[in-house]
Amino acid sequence: MFGRVHSIETFGTVDGPGIRYVIFMQGCPMRCLYCHNPDTWDINSGTQMSVQELVEDISKYTRYIDGITVSGGEPLLQIDFLIELFSEVKKMGLTTCIDTSGIVYNENLDFAKKMEKLIDVCDLILLDIKHINNDKLLFVFLY
Ligand code: SF4
Repeated sequence: MFGRVHSIETFGTVDGPGIRYVIFMQGCPMRCLYCHNPDTWDINSGTQMSVQELVEDISKYTRYIDGITVSGGEPLLQIDFLIELFSEVKKMGLTTCIDTSGIVYNENLDFAKKMEKLIDVCDLILLDIKHINNDKLLFVFLY
């Protein structure tokens, strides 16, 4: 399976516990005015990478990383890819973490089932709530 990747950081220290291999996924439906990574917004941009390609790259760093984190962009836009990637990474003895705004979460049965599968292979979710008051939330929602 292929996913669209914006960039990779092999020594992340602020995206979950310990030292992490961080994959910034391409695509985000939000348009936060303070966004640090607007170049992640376009879902059709980025680099197409297979799960196998990523697993091979991650395996070079297993000596010093605690796990991997997927961030973005909005990683849950590519939930099928995350399920497959996390399943493989768990086999390597590494921890898995998602940094998400939660914006794509919905009660659609298909999505809910996929979330259950993802949570089975996910150790930590960093839920990055942008604001608790919709009137004060400074973004344009395009999803
Ligand atoms: S959710 Fe994150 S990546 Fe998306 S626009 Fe907001 S700050 Fe940028």
